Amino acid sequence: MSVRVRFAPSPTGPLHIGGVRTALYNYLFARKHGGTFILRIEDTDRTRYVPGAEAYIQEALQWLGLTYDEGPDKAGPHGPYRQSERTAIYRRYADQLVAAGHAYYAFDTPEELEAMRTRMKKAGAAAPKYDQVTRQYMRNSLTLPENETRELIEQGVPYVIRLKTPRQEEVKFQDEVRGWVKFQSGQLDDKVLLKADGFPTYHLANVVDDHLMDISHVIRGEEWLSSTPVHVLLYRYLGWEPPCFAHLPLILKPSGKGKLSKRDGDLGGFPVFPIEWKDPRTGEVYAGYRESGYLPEAVLNILALLGWSPGAGREILSLDEMTRLFSLEKVGKSGAKFDPQKARWINQQHLKRKSGQALAPYLRTELEKLGIDGYDDAYLAAVAELTREKAQLLTDLWPLSRFFFIAPVEYPLDVVKKKWRPEVRDFLASLAERLPDGPLSAETLETAFEEAAQALGVKAGRMKQLFRIAISGQPSGPSLFPAAALLGGGELKKRLRTFLTWAEQHLEE
Ligand code: GLU
Repeated sequence: MSVRVRFAPSPTGPLHIGGVRTALYNYLFARKHGGTFILRIEDTDRTRYVPGAEAYIQEALQWLGLTYDEGPDKAGPHGPYRQSERTAIYRRYADQLVAAGHAYYAFDTPEELEAMRTRMKKAGAAAPKYDQVTRQYMRNSLTLPENETRELIEQGVPYVIRLKTPRQEEVKFQDEVRGWVKFQSGQLDDKVLLKADGFPTYHLANVVDDHLMDISHVIRGEEWLSSTPVHVLLYRYLGWEPPCFAHLPLILKPSGKGKLSKRDGDLGGFPVFPIEWKDPRTGEVYAGYRESGYLPEAVLNILALLGWSPGAGREILSLDEMTRLFSLEKVGKSGAKFDPQKARWINQQHLKRKSGQALAPYLRTELEKLGIDGYDDAYLAAVAELTREKAQLLTDLWPLSRFFFIAPVEYPLDVVKKKWRPEVRDFLASLAERLPDGPLSAETLETAFEEAAQALGVKAGRMKQLFRIAISGQPSGPSLFPAAALLGGGELKKRLRTFLTWAEQHLEE
């Protein structure tokens, strides 16, 4: 059997990272087995459709490198891949189900449905539904005479098509993550398959497409588990073999209490969406991992570990490594707690793996924003090599790197005061004199530093922090001598002099 899997988001807004994790696991499974990964847009619920959401999904997958083999913008043998372009297909199967007696027309108005619910509630039903029992008292093709049903349809009276669920039957399926899962059909309601607007519901469209698109494995979030018995019935009634199912565990709040939501991200200061989303209806902006300084490979790594474990204590993995190690057997059943600190740590590990060259474009962008040019790529790469060690997020790089491009004019007065001693002035002046005007190595600088200290009889170690502040404006930062050396002798001298002038004005001795 060839592996064909799909990611089937509904374009109802930005893609939650739970959805991205589903896409990732499908991708990994497909690549691992040399199979095909499909993007299918499930846009049949017109009331929930949000313009821009489909483009958002595609952009997010592209940023993350989760390339699909077939999709709305990638023609394949099973297209179209947007459900709104397939409505005629679903209609045919809905009709087939009615003809075979597995589905029926229902003409009930919203008022009649409401009256039924009220009646049932009065009779003590906690959650009244349209099911094997109540359908007997409603206006549908099971209770109306055949000719009346025909007449209503001919007159254009709105109707839906509902699944006729069996009265008392065990519906079971084997889930790759959970083992055997069983439901009693008496607990199911007669789900609407085709709506009055002629569009299918999720259930019908999903099953028809998974079949027609030759999907071998349905890998999706746990929230769809309760829909699966409905799907299993549909496969049976349509005479089709169901695919294998795998339901992924929920992604939980950091506290572990409930599903991770946008609100949790807002409160905890971390994104729950891959890329930034600007809601076209409200203008509200939702934070994204991309804009918050995460690397795409780190986001994939963070998500991979939410529900799957590669074993052997491995935590930092590239997409290729994940692909090699992935298996559904190692996906857990219980919810996976999202840990924002660990997410940052994982990003940091991936930043450390990046070369300075790979990070240079990020600094280039920041420089361009400020209209600064005149630095070559090699310099940018060297800066990034030095500063990435201290960065957890890509966005930390610029504040750490800024002084390599912009000389400080302000210094932290409190710290300077605390560290200041009279010999500092002489020391820095003497150091400046010892430096060459041109390029400088870290070793030459360190030697000059030691010599200046010796000549004045001061401890070199004690001079370091003020030297750092003098050249960077900051009390801490990247490895001192390599960073300072990169600035070059001439620039260092200038900065030391500027600092000494400032100190004269701000410090009383
Ligand atoms: N359209 C559903 C969603 O938005 C797809 C669920 C499934 O994969 O079957 O997640």
